[in-house]
Amino acid sequence: MRRLDKQNKQPEYDIVVIGGGISGASVAYEAASRGLTVALVEKDDFAHATSSATSKMIHGGLRYLQKMEISIVRESLRERRILANIAPNLVFPLPFLLNSYSHDSIPYAAFKMGMILYDLLSYDKNHLWQDAKKITGHKSYTPEQLLEMEPYIKKEGLQKGLMYYDYANIVPERLTLAFIKSAVAKGAQVANYAKVTGFLATEDKQVQGVKVRDLYTHEDYDLQADLVVNCAGPWADLVLHQSNLLEQPLHLMRSEGIHLIVDKKVNNHVISATIPGKGHCFMSPWRNHTMIGTTDKRYDGDPDAWHVTKEAVLELLTDANSVFGNDTSIKPSEIRYVYGGLRPLVESKDKDVYGTSRHYEIETYDREKLTGLVTVTGGKFTTSRSLAEHVIDKAERLTGRLHQKSQTAEQYLEGSNIPDFEAFVKQKTAAYPDMKPEQVRFLCQYYGDKFEYLLSIAGDNPAYMEPLNADGEIGAQVIYAIRHEMALTLSDILFRRTGLGTLGHPGQDCLNKITQWAADELHWTKEELQQQIDEVEEQFKVPV
Ligand SMILES: Cc1cc2nc3c(=O)[nH]c(=O)nc-3n(C[C@H](O)[C@H](O)[C@H](O)COP(=O)(O)OP(=O)(O)OC[C@H]3O[C@@H](n4cnc5c(N)ncnc54)[C@H](O)[C@@H]3O)c2cc1C
Repeated sequence: MRRLDKQNKQPEYDIVVIGGGISGASVAYEAASRGLTVALVEKDDFAHATSSATSKMIHGGLRYLQKMEISIVRESLRERRILANIAPNLVFPLPFLLNSYSHDSIPYAAFKMGMILYDLLSYDKNHLWQDAKKITGHKSYTPEQLLEMEPYIKKEGLQKGLMYYDYANIVPERLTLAFIKSAVAKGAQVANYAKVTGFLATEDKQVQGVKVRDLYTHEDYDLQADLVVNCAGPWADLVLHQSNLLEQPLHLMRSEGIHLIVDKKVNNHVISATIPGKGHCFMSPWRNHTMIGTTDKRYDGDPDAWHVTKEAVLELLTDANSVFGNDTSIKPSEIRYVYGGLRPLVESKDKDVYGTSRHYEIETYDREKLTGLVTVTGGKFTTSRSLAEHVIDKAERLTGRLHQKSQTAEQYLEGSNIPDFEAFVKQKTAAYPDMKPEQVRFLCQYYGDKFEYLLSIAGDNPAYMEPLNADGEIGAQVIYAIRHEMALTLSDILFRRTGLGTLGHPGQDCLNKITQWAADELHWTKEELQQQIDEVEEQFKVPV
């Protein structure tokens, strides 16, 4: 991917997208695939914010049925199926156990009714391109059966349980990147580390583009466009406040959510339980470890200053220990890694952020008589493709273009052109007998149809082929990230292009090797190299 900069930018675009999270990535792909000229600018790295903070689920949102938000659930269930089709290497069926306790405020019968409705709403769930992605409707289990499947479920008061399926988004960072790459493959130009600092607008409130500060080359430039789409997530209001275009400022609510990564506690099901007065807590299997999540707490501070705090970590751990585990509890020292972010939510009268709807809004400023600008707020990772379809439908109307039918639900994402993923893994496992089958599977998931190309990079240096962690990640991924995926920092490599940093510190030797390879590729000085290390060491700290 060639990075957009001052030198190679086009004189004007049909659409400029602000933000390289999943919303912006999806909008850029949808627009480019309908033949529009597109530029996308992201002030940090792609997916560095909320889009890497998720619970790694592509889900219908069973709990939204409590508020009878049928249309969000139906849309999410449809998009769940589409993502399983278009990203077969990144989206996989994930079983959930929903347990009912004698002390629950919601009776088992209500769970059961909800499940029946969820199954009805996912009537087309198995209209899938690959058999291995097919899922069943819900099933009921006795306490004994539940405990046999997942001994970490709390026994006390357990009455019954239900198993149902949603999907796992195994690497949200790479799924976001797949949308970015798909946009680029259709002609979009994109840049990370390029911040929108203001708008180009006429006196009669016609937005004509944005001002950009390139944080990598330290250059300033303008991008002219017929339409600017603001997908800045938790910063969507602050981006707008950089100008005085709007008389009524946008009101956005932010809700913090964090996750903890610990050693394996659950086998292969997500287990969840209600935390009285707060919401719910879950434990989910991920890369042979367990992810504990999540919190949902209103955050009123500056989104740039947000970080995971000791209080939040200890509160989540205490909650998890109160509803899971029987004779054991997890100690703070067992936490390997923490991550989180801010949900951008549409402001509602409901001050309880857990109960706030996850619907999205697309604001076109008709009342303000402002043209050339659209702002997207709210939503879920799961519904981003469909959000993008609606945004570009509106964009076509606003700019007077002929409607082009969306194709993004019908085509594999870039790197995911694998009609039978299980057969693909089997074939690669047989072709590479020197590699462990689990390593082949892992790299096929992360790199999809680029698996062989990734391995060919190791031809340059045998050290690039040595496994660096239990998943079998290799040095070739570091080189690939820099040469082909616009990774510019050590943090981009460790936390968003590869999984080398997302299970916690990979060990000093491993970190030194990765840093040296990155420094050679990116020509870092000794000082720059040290600065990169200092920054990631900070990210690895678990605040307990
Ligand atoms: C704890 C948690 C768990 C979640 N779990 C799930 C889940 O399991 N499933 C699910 O479907 N959804 C989940 N979500 C919701 C989902 O993550 C979000 O809906 C989605 O990631 C929002 O994406 P976005 O692109 O709108 O925002 P972001 O990913 O935050 O992207 C916005 C981008 O805009 C950039 N930006 C800001 N200002 C500027 C500027 N001036 N110039 C250029 N760029 C700028 C930012 O740097 C940022 O990268 C979860 C959210 C949280 C917080």
